[in-house]
Amino acid sequence: MKSFSDVYRNAENKIAGIAAAPGIVIGEVYLFTKEKLEINDADITDVKEAKKNLLEALEKSKKEFNKIFAIAKEKMGETRAGIFEAQLMILDDQVLIGNIIKRIEKEKKQPEFIVDDEISKYQNLMVMSHEAYMKERANDIEDIKNRIVRNLRNKRWKSKFRNDVIIVSESLTPADILLLSRNKVKSFITDHGGLTSHAAIISRSLNIPAVVGTHNATLKLADGQNVIVDGFHGYVLFDPTEEQISFFEEKHNHLIALQKQLEEFKDKRAVTKDGKEIQMLANVDVTGEIDLVLTSGAKGIGLYRSEQILDEIETIPSEDEQVKIYARLASRIYPDFITIRAFDIGGDKFKLFDYDEPNPFLGLRGLRLLLENPKLFKEQIRAVLRSSSHKNIKFMLPMVSTLSEIHHSKKIISDCMDELSTKNIPFDKDMEIGIMVEVPSAAVMAKEFADEVDFLSIGTNDLIQYLMAVDRGNELVSDLYQEFSPVVLRTLKKIIDDSKLAGKPVSLCGEMAADTLAMPLLVGLGLESMSISPATIPYAKKIIASFNYKDSKLMAEKCLSVCDEEGVQKIIEKFFSDNKIIRTRNII
Ligand code: PEP
Ligand code: MG
Repeated sequence: MKSFSDVYRNAENKIAGIAAAPGIVIGEVYLFTKEKLEINDADITDVKEAKKNLLEALEKSKKEFNKIFAIAKEKMGETRAGIFEAQLMILDDQVLIGNIIKRIEKEKKQPEFIVDDEISKYQNLMVMSHEAYMKERANDIEDIKNRIVRNLRNKRWKSKFRNDVIIVSESLTPADILLLSRNKVKSFITDHGGLTSHAAIISRSLNIPAVVGTHNATLKLADGQNVIVDGFHGYVLFDPTEEQISFFEEKHNHLIALQKQLEEFKDKRAVTKDGKEIQMLANVDVTGEIDLVLTSGAKGIGLYRSEQILDEIETIPSEDEQVKIYARLASRIYPDFITIRAFDIGGDKFKLFDYDEPNPFLGLRGLRLLLENPKLFKEQIRAVLRSSSHKNIKFMLPMVSTLSEIHHSKKIISDCMDELSTKNIPFDKDMEIGIMVEVPSAAVMAKEFADEVDFLSIGTNDLIQYLMAVDRGNELVSDLYQEFSPVVLRTLKKIIDDSKLAGKPVSLCGEMAADTLAMPLLVGLGLESMSISPATIPYAKKIIASFNYKDSKLMAEKCLSVCDEEGVQKIIEKFFSDNKIIRTRNII
């Protein structure tokens, strides 16, 4: 049977891009060209009238954006809709508006010319930034600029077209995506944009397959043309052959069948054939994912990456804003629990300062940064405590590398508790405090660290990179990033055994737990709890139900006795074929 790489290797009708949102779609192109606005720079005589027009256009644009903001909140949750709130703030920027008005009075030019010129200045500054993220934001602002200009001309924003099409556009703003999604758009393809663009993020959360950053899809594709969009691998095939269509139809049907088949596992517990139950928890990266968690059959949230909030709202949330977010999540997941991880800022994540570290992954990251910034740390701790009235929040510390960091953190937490008690603010006095074990020093001292806290969670994403000295995001050394290295297995075994010795529960929340190939091995190593992305939970339950715990223990023992990764892989593959388990490393 052909594989995806066979299909793409020989295809001359392919356009390559970035896989921004997963899924396979076959359909017709709709070229969404945003009419280029010719800006009128004519002189005016009635300055008063021009200023009145400007204020009306701003007001109208604000109303339109408020509407988009309301749709966004409904579809994506309050936090992520913050993208639009940020855009609304530009319409309220009194310095910007003041400058535009002053220039209309002085230069006596059409307001649309001044608006275009002033907002373009903002954009140019952003485009010139070295941060990919800022460049993306410049694109969002284009939308506001065009909207004001259209409203100055009393023209309506046009977004009506047929349903069920594949939108192809140079770029799309988050607002475009939301409005277009109401027309049951099947997929998005854009010339520009990257994985970090908000348009890509929104496509993923709306579950609309997307390929971005194709450079020239708008030049290569025509209205009504047939295309296949592969949001898993980041390719578009135009005028597909019969053979290609049947290949992708089969993959698409397979995907649907697989999802149906897995539905039955949603409400089941994760139990091996011989009755060993594994606790299945969910990882939550963006606030909107909570709905998926509720329907995934997870027994709670094992990792909430709170630092994602900073990316979603593009700033540090205040203590009160955090309370709103955490309290909502905690009450939605109740009576199950949520593990809120303290901000893991640094490394390849949100940057707090302008300062460039020579080795960010070995630098001021996670707990180290929080201990250096007690105000930020305390605000988060107080927010977590204030949200804990249901007694279903656990608090977890990232990147712990020394015992004294744990002591220091516990002292700060206890100070925050005293502060709230003095003010008679209720909170859960017994809130559990745990740590991520993701730095080799924490693995080596796992027993002593476990003695100090209520639970451990193994972060294999970082643990593997630090054990093997391999940057987790660097393709050049990716073959050394070996989750099945004996070094990794022996370290996992030690952490699991040490936490049992200390009598403390241990879970694993790195991507390794979502690799179905690793599942029997992790169970065999004695792991009784895992936290993975909600969509993967039914797959994990299916795999767990297809082997005996006692066999997985023997298999793990064998793996621990070999000295190379290939040897471990072979033992695991034999276990899969002996137990007739279907490998689902990739979804399709
Ligand atoms: C990990 O390191 O395994 C982990 C879960 O944390 P993150 O991926 O957020 O660094
Ligand atoms: Mg980590």
